[in-house]
Amino acid sequence: MKCGFCGREIPADHVQQSCGMCKGGCRKIHCPYCGHENPATPAYLRRLAEKKEAKSQTHQEDDHS
Ligand SMILES: [Zn+2]
Ligand SMILES: [Zn+2]
Repeated sequence: MKCGFCGREIPADHVQQSCGMCKGGCRKIHCPYCGHENPATPAYLRRLAEKKEAKSQTHQEDDHS
């Protein structure tokens, strides 16, 4: 995923790990480059977003009457 602050790619294995920087089960994803706390996106939400994109693309193709 991309960091929402500096825009650099955060490695997938870093995303899987628990924070470790904050005490007590922080669920945010800290960017290894700038330290920004990115909100963790649940897998099902990500799938929903991908579906939305696919739908809008097919809709554009259908729009030739
Ligand atoms: Zn960053
Ligand atoms: Zn944390």
